[in-house]
Amino acid sequence: MDKLKIAIQKSGRLYDDSIKLLKDCSIEINIGIDKLKTTALNFPLEVLFLRDDDIPQYLEDGVADIGIVGKNVLLEKRKKVKIKETLGFGKCRLSIAVPKSLSYKRLNDLNGKRIATSYPFLIKEFFIKKSINADIHEISGAVEIAPGIGLADCICDLVSSGSTLFMNGLKEVETILQSEAVLASNINLIYSKNIIMDKLLFRIRAVKKAKNNKYILLNVPNDRLEKIISYLPGIKSPVILPLANSECSSVHSVVNENDFWGIVENLKSLGAQDILVLPIEKIIL
Ligand code: ATP
Ligand code: ZN
Repeated sequence: MDKLKIAIQKSGRLYDDSIKLLKDCSIEINIGIDKLKTTALNFPLEVLFLRDDDIPQYLEDGVADIGIVGKNVLLEKRKKVKIKETLGFGKCRLSIAVPKSLSYKRLNDLNGKRIATSYPFLIKEFFIKKSINADIHEISGAVEIAPGIGLADCICDLVSSGSTLFMNGLKEVETILQSEAVLASNINLIYSKNIIMDKLLFRIRAVKKAKNNKYILLNVPNDRLEKIISYLPGIKSPVILPLANSECSSVHSVVNENDFWGIVENLKSLGAQDILVLPIEKIIL
């Protein structure tokens, strides 16, 4: 039987979440000592451990069938691959930062400046769109130190919390891309591999959906029941179960993480008691 080959980062910021995603999809893998590749024990999947920068090329060449990589790397490398799903981790932005001491008011202030980056294509594209004429210096790592050592006037680099910029005396002034990890695929997968990928995507979507929702249980005096359930979405509609105390009912529902606190505050003020909130492992609709 065919196996689908998935490339994930060998080590680094995407490694833990990529492994966790496979685990959440109930795919068991043994990670060997050499960590070049491994085979899943209960799913037709071979896992290749690679540098994230190499993943787009391997996907284009068909060395790997699918891969987990930052959207930033995928767009910078411009390889012919398909993005199948965003994964909700590895969130960051590609931003321009300048020394704190520099007075920066608008994008035009970058004209004539030297900018250090590991993302020459994306920054060049951005500058062309905005008609900025700056000097792009490609460097492969530790971009944030470039202004301090006189290599450049400013940088374009990945930022999440901003603490690295802060520690290097830099301030973020423009964001050129919002990024997160994505699942990408080779564009010419054979039929049997497509079927395996769809099975994996089905699991990934169920896991993603579950992460964004909570299971909520509450006790409600029967005279408040109607009002309270009008505030609860539920997947179809909330479940209502009788309690031994005949004056109250137990209500179960599923609430989206984004609306969660607003809904709970309303329920409480309407007389809901004993509210329990549980994580959901998977949602299959
Ligand atoms: P490799 O050795 O595989 O080439 P790397 O050092 O290039 O690794 P990491 O720093 O591990 O890469 O980052 C991998 C990806 O994690 C980035 O391409 C990006 O998509 C994502 N990421 C999330 N937050 C950040 C951040 N603050 N800085 C850098 N990358 C981030
Ligand atoms: Zn890399």
